[in-house]
Amino acid sequence: MNFSDLGLCPELSQAVADLGYTAPTPIQEKSIPYVLMGRDILGSAQTGTGKTASFTLPMIEILASGRAKARLPRSLILAPTRELAAQVADSFQKFSTYHKLSMALLIGGVSFADQNAALDKGVDVLIATPGRLLDHFERGKVLLTDVKILVIDEADRMLDMGFIPDVERIVGLLPPLRQTLFFSATLSDDIKKLSDKFVSNPKVIEVAPPASTADTVAQHLTWTNPRGKREALRDLLRSEDVKNAVIFCNRKRDISTLVTSLKRHEFDAVALHGDMTQSARLDALQKFKDGEVPLMIASDVAARGLDIAGLSHVFNFDVPGNAEDYVHRIGRTGRAGKSGRAFTIAAGDDDRKYVGAIEKLIGKAIPLVEGGEAAPEKDTARKSGKADKPKKADAKADTNATADKKTESRAESGGKGRGRSRRGKETHAGELPAPPDCKGNTLKDTGHVPAFLLR
Ligand code: AMP
Repeated sequence: MNFSDLGLCPELSQAVADLGYTAPTPIQEKSIPYVLMGRDILGSAQTGTGKTASFTLPMIEILASGRAKARLPRSLILAPTRELAAQVADSFQKFSTYHKLSMALLIGGVSFADQNAALDKGVDVLIATPGRLLDHFERGKVLLTDVKILVIDEADRMLDMGFIPDVERIVGLLPPLRQTLFFSATLSDDIKKLSDKFVSNPKVIEVAPPASTADTVAQHLTWTNPRGKREALRDLLRSEDVKNAVIFCNRKRDISTLVTSLKRHEFDAVALHGDMTQSARLDALQKFKDGEVPLMIASDVAARGLDIAGLSHVFNFDVPGNAEDYVHRIGRTGRAGKSGRAFTIAAGDDDRKYVGAIEKLIGKAIPLVEGGEAAPEKDTARKSGKADKPKKADAKADTNATADKKTESRAESGGKGRGRSRRGKETHAGELPAPPDCKGNTLKDTGHVPAFLLR
C-alpha cells in the first residue's frame, strides 16, 4: 500500500516521499480514505503512530479547492498544549509544500499582533490551543462560522487538563454542518461519552492497544540509591552512544538542579517544563531539535506528545509515579520504525512500587542493565529506622483488626445483655463496674465510676 492508493493527489504523495515516508502507517491507512469521504472520525491513536498526517494529509486534499476569506478560517485544529499545536503546524507546513494553503498558529505566550496579521489575510487551516483561540474570538479577531473541518486532537489530554468547557464553547461557535475528526490516545468510556457531543455517526478507528510500548524501544532498568542517581545517569550517558536524549524528572524543581549538575560534569543540557516562559520553551526545544544541545531535561507536562526526529535515548531520572507516563515518556524514542533505547533509574522503596505498576501495565519485566545493581532488599528502610514505624496501610490493617475484634465481641454478646462486651466485665483495680442494663450516658445515670477518677 502506498499513499496514492489512499486517494491522495500526486503532490501530497510527493510531499510525503520527500520526507522519506515509504508507506502509510496503520492509522493513516485506516483513516485517510474515510476523511476524504467526508466522514466524521473517532480515532484512538497515540502520538508516534503517524496520527498527525492521518488528518492533515486529507485535510490538505479537501482544502486544496476553495479560498479563505479574512478572519474566516476554513478549518480548525485544536490541540491541548502549545508544543503540540506548534508540532501540528510544523507537519502541516511540510505536507503542504506543493499546495498554496495558508495557516495560522494561535498559541499563548506569543504576541497577538503577528497572529492577528495572519488571521486578517485569511487562513485555510487554523491551529490553536483553546484558550488563545477564545481570546482572539473575544477580541473580535476571528469568526468561526466558515469552519468546515474541525479536528480535536489529544482529547484525553484536553479532558485531563480541564479544557473541555472551552472546547464545548468553541464548538458552539462552529456551524453544525461540518466534518469532525476526534482523536484521543485512548477511547475510555468517558472519552466516548464526550465524543458524542462533537461527532456524528463517526467511523471508529483504533490502532495499537492503549499503554503498549513499541517493540522498537529497548528498555532497561537500573537500581541505585537516591544519592547515587546523578552518578548513575552520568555513567549511562558515558557508556551509551547517546546522539540526543530526553531525561525526565518528576519534579520541576529538580530539572534545573540536574541541568546545573550535568553542566558541571561537562554535559550540555537544556531544560523544558511548564513554568518556563513560552519563548524560553520554544528556544530550548529548537536548540535541542536542531542538535545544538544533545540533552533535554524535561517534565511530563512539557514533553508528552513531543516529536523529536530520531531521538536516540530516553532516560527516566525518576521513575514516574503514574505507569502510563512511562509509556508516553519512552515513546519519544523508537518512533516511526526507528530503534531507540530507554533507561530508568530507580532508587528507594517507592520506586519498587512504581516499577511494579509499570511492569504490570506493559505486561513484562523491564530488563536490568547488564552489570548493574538489582533491586535492593526490602529491609533497606528498616536499616534507616523507618521500618519500625508502621506504614499507613499497616496502621489501617491494625484498625481493621480492632474493628473485627469489636464485631466479634458484639456477636458473642449477641443474645445476652445488649451492648455488653467481654471487656465490659474486666474492671481495672478499684473500678466500679457499669450496671448490666444501664442505658445512661453520664456518670450520674450509670453509677459507674472509672478507675482513673478514683486515683
Ligand atoms: P505523529 O504520531 O503524528 O506524532 O508522528 C510521529 C512521527 O512519525 C513523526 O516524526 C512523523 O514525521 C513520522 N511519520 C508519520 N507518518 C509516517 C510514515 N508514513 N512513514 C514514516 N514516518 C512517518
